[in-house]
Amino acid sequence: MTLVDPHGRKINYLRLSVTDRCNMRCLYCMPKEGIIKKTQEALLTYEELLLIAQTAVAMGIEKIRITGGEPLVRRGIVDFLARLSTIPGLRHLALTTNGLLLTEMAADLYKAGVQRLNVSLDSLQPVTFSEITRGGDLGSVLAGLKTAELAGFPPPKINVVVMRGINDTEVINFAEMTREYGNPVRFIEYMPVIKEKGWQRYCISGDEILQRITAKYPLEPVDKGAYSGPSRDFRIPGARGSIGIITAVSGHFCSECNRIRVTSTGQAKGCLFSDTKTDLIPWLRPPDRKGLTQKLQSIVSGKPERHDISEDGYTHTNFKMSQIGG
Ligand code: SAM
Ligand code: SF4
Repeated sequence: MTLVDPHGRKINYLRLSVTDRCNMRCLYCMPKEGIIKKTQEALLTYEELLLIAQTAVAMGIEKIRITGGEPLVRRGIVDFLARLSTIPGLRHLALTTNGLLLTEMAADLYKAGVQRLNVSLDSLQPVTFSEITRGGDLGSVLAGLKTAELAGFPPPKINVVVMRGINDTEVINFAEMTREYGNPVRFIEYMPVIKEKGWQRYCISGDEILQRITAKYPLEPVDKGAYSGPSRDFRIPGARGSIGIITAVSGHFCSECNRIRVTSTGQAKGCLFSDTKTDLIPWLRPPDRKGLTQKLQSIVSGKPERHDISEDGYTHTNFKMSQIGG
């Protein structure tokens, strides 16, 4: 089956959040004090998450990315992933993590059938890393990246949220990393999800990031893989890893958007930046596969053509990225 939205986009990608808890407190994602924890009843059970995944795959979803919060902090995640990976028709199972627990978990994740890891890593400087993550240990994440490859994973993709005045001077260091290591590095524009006063000062456009790199290195375009999503991909000639730019704010990747999202509390969204969400709980408790199919179809049918965020005007209700899954 193929899922196509009213704007002609093929929808084949589900981002499924399994928790809103996290063992880090990144300043662009969570308030310092953390978030009010959801009760156990509010959180979808693994059975419910599985039903959503099975239903979505039967409708035409081919790729699922597990996200959070930090997905690796949820107890039982490895068994859940092992069940997910056997869904007939699911072609690609990926996971996004902050990498803190990878040293101990990478081998089990690989055995469970996860095919690809994305690791968020915003600085290669221990002090800056700790400041951005409010206490995270860079060494553990770097060790986790190595362990993942030893476990059999392709070099994990590294996601870097670039913030002016915080880590933007490291753009070149990350770009240079791709010459030596096979990890694709993707620069993500800072998104104003928590609109604290003066948030505009952090914004740095994908074009500026590209200019900074091309001022030092030539870049050649790279063909995107089937499920690579809305990044523009390049390579420094001869480099092992690629460089991607995700212009979520300044650019207009909406025309290529192939995804829907479901949060760990069962809220489905067609667009990260839209306030519109659909509560799936009534079709999960008790399970109603037919009703769930209709609801997911309505998310696809109601997927907005484009978001309206920009650096100036943007009128969404505040949300925490950790609750939606990025
Ligand atoms: N904890 C995992 C992690 O950090 O990779 C998964 C969840 S996290 C919410 C998913 C992605 O969202 C991460 O790559 C993170 O950098 C990104 N993200 C969170 N807040 C963001 C923001 N304000 N702007 C841009 N990206 C953001
Ligand atoms: Fe946690 Fe990921 Fe959000 Fe950082 S970006 S606070 S690691 S959920």
